[in-house]
Amino acid sequence: MTAHIINGKEIVGHVREQIKQEVQALAAKGIQPGLVVILVGDDAASAVYVRNKAKSCEEAGIYSEVHRLPAETSQADLLALIAQLNADKKINGILVQLPLPKHIDEDRIIDSIAVDKDVDCFHPINVGNLMIGKESFLPCTPAGIIEILKHLNLPIAGKHAVVIGRSNIVGKPMAMLLLRENATVTICHSKTTNLEEITKQADILIVAIGRAKMVKRGHVKPGAVVIDAGINRLDTGKLAGDVDFDDVVEVAGYITPVPGVVGPMTITMLLRNTLEAAKKANSASVHA
Ligand code: NDP
Repeated sequence: MTAHIINGKEIVGHVREQIKQEVQALAAKGIQPGLVVILVGDDAASAVYVRNKAKSCEEAGIYSEVHRLPAETSQADLLALIAQLNADKKINGILVQLPLPKHIDEDRIIDSIAVDKDVDCFHPINVGNLMIGKESFLPCTPAGIIEILKHLNLPIAGKHAVVIGRSNIVGKPMAMLLLRENATVTICHSKTTNLEEITKQADILIVAIGRAKMVKRGHVKPGAVVIDAGINRLDTGKLAGDVDFDDVVEVAGYITPVPGVVGPMTITMLLRNTLEAAKKANSASVHA
């Protein structure tokens, strides 16, 4: 059996078209959503992500600003910039590209972003709201993965979903969103014993480890849905996921290639969160 290879272009294209249309509808009311991305330092991978985010905004009709700050920027200066952007009416979303240089306290920076502009959903208040089922932004990578499953009409409720990884950015919020969709959820991590035994029970296996090609066919139940959030740069310069695609494609029911699905879907959810933030900020005119 060979898995159905999930087509990122088709899904991402579909959702971005919906967003574009909503942005156009807002434009007719004189509203343009705006996103600002702040990049501190010259990390090459981060620079690529930031460029992609800005380009995607432009294509969707969303205003974007990129602030490229030198690596030696002080925490105080970064906090001052965020305070200014928190008050800027044309900005609906503020994203600080992580990781930050070591002399800057990431938690302090995330805490300083206005809760209603925290389109990454990293602020503790948004994370808390997500936990208790209150309205909040949805974290981009996990929300994108749920969107992929729904787009393909793959059932989540009642299924056993196993998430490998428990980071605050991917693994933990992923588990929370799957739970909200009524999956039975297991979270695995580096201290999990007998990983294969657990992952083999998964109907839906979500992988966010950060180790190239770690998940092999022995980890996967035949027919399972395998979603790979991993992005790893190989020595050859090529990108690879955390799943050994060539091996697992032969046993899974559905599989995402890397790159091409979860990465662009993550950016798509960032666009959607910025759009939602703009709608909220202008709710009086949107409903007029
Ligand atoms: P982190 O390094 O923060 O977390 C990795 C997780 O994997 C940890 O919880 C760790 O466990 C677990 N882990 C590490 N080794 C093993 C192992 N041998 N067995 C089981 N679990 C293990 O990474 P992120 O969550 O930030 O990112 C994960 C991947 O997703 C990366 O490849 C990253 O590049 C990618 N990513 C992709 C995004 C996208 O837009 N597509 C966005 C963000 C990330 P423990 O907690 O015990 O250390």
